[in-house]
Amino acid sequence: MSFSQLGLSSELLQAITDQGYETPTPIQRQAIPEVLDGRDVLAGAQTGTGKTASFTLPLLQLLTNKPTVQKPRPVRALILVPTRELAAQVYESVQLYGKHLPLVAEVIFGGVSPNPQIKSLHRGADIIVATPGRLLDLANQRHVNLSRVEYFVLDEADRMLDMGFIVDIRKIIAMLPKKRQNLMFSATFADEIKTLAAQILHNPAQIEVAQRNTTADNISQLIYPLKQEYKRECLSYLIGSNNWKQVLVFVRTKHGADRLCKQLMLDGIRCAALHGNKSQNARTVALENFKSGKISCLVATDIAARGLDIEQLPHVINFDLPAVPEDYVHRIGRTGRAGCEGVAISLVCPDEAKLLFAIEKLLKKEIPRVADTGYETVILKASDAAPAKKVDPRPRRHQNHTKERAKTTTNHPTPRKSGTPTAARRRSR
Ligand code: AMP
Repeated sequence: MSFSQLGLSSELLQAITDQGYETPTPIQRQAIPEVLDGRDVLAGAQTGTGKTASFTLPLLQLLTNKPTVQKPRPVRALILVPTRELAAQVYESVQLYGKHLPLVAEVIFGGVSPNPQIKSLHRGADIIVATPGRLLDLANQRHVNLSRVEYFVLDEADRMLDMGFIVDIRKIIAMLPKKRQNLMFSATFADEIKTLAAQILHNPAQIEVAQRNTTADNISQLIYPLKQEYKRECLSYLIGSNNWKQVLVFVRTKHGADRLCKQLMLDGIRCAALHGNKSQNARTVALENFKSGKISCLVATDIAARGLDIEQLPHVINFDLPAVPEDYVHRIGRTGRAGCEGVAISLVCPDEAKLLFAIEKLLKKEIPRVADTGYETVILKASDAAPAKKVDPRPRRHQNHTKERAKTTTNHPTPRKSGTPTAARRRSR
């Protein structure tokens, strides 16, 4: 099936061609006709599936079909997203796909001065992409009127709830007209999401593109079982010796991200940290530098990295395993996008064994272990693991774990043989 068969206008088809897209992705094939038909949609799709275009393209078409003459333009489409980064990305997509159309879009998020956003809102916009907190502030201060919204998109609804936005979302929905078209996207469908969907959506078309909690086939996943104290060295070695140019590293805490980033820089790796305590400007610069190749490594927390879309990101490394198994799927979904090959490596210490087994249970498969990590061999056994909530990403220098080989092994280039001096490696980079 081609884009032209989906009923999109020539301006949109031109923008799609400009982007270099040849065929619609499964979510686009299924969602676009439903949205154009005026139906509510409930879609189970993760980032990386092309979901942004699946709602942006038909919305742009619907808005263009019903042009407004009112000045300033009333807000007719509202796209709510959980994070600033995702807001910026979705806004960018709206502009890219809508570049041949006479529509105006604005993006609203916190962490930056509200004044330019207020000015733009007063000039009028057909589409607003927003995070809930700032939008609610501006709506309460009457800088934006949501009473003319005809199309409402709730993107990454599961993450919205994880981040505690439910009250804000309900307040925003209360400001919208009752009659409107609703689209809801979520990677997971816990009961809370189902309840929210039942409240917001009317007879929705239900679309599920990839089975929930599955990882793409084109992502090679590997586990490096090793003691916590060797993780940083192993990470530096993997990046340096393989000359990896674009590596997204996940850690669980903001503090952990900062500390690891400093350590990697001492190892000669150009990197930056991305987390919620960084200013919006620092986050934008870090992301731009990562995308443009100025830095080769971005150390991020889950929330900051959620929804990041970096074309053809080849390597994702879990420095710590996530506390929530579903986050593993989201993390490694940053690589292997749009059909490209990706590698996802998790450095797992014995304390994290329980988390690993929870992830494997979710995926319904065992992730291959690297037999020879180049460091002291450890075995990952559920019985040895500390309870999940006590896992501490800091070095644990005084542990005494069994030295055995992991049961599933794979051949993979070993990062280093124990005893290779770190300084020698640093010099060689
Ligand atoms: P998303 O799931 O919306 O975050 O999109 C993931 C990536 O896929 C983005 O980089 C899009 O530019 C890209 N993309 C979206 N639709 C297509 C398509 N039909 N063909 C190729 N790439 C696409």
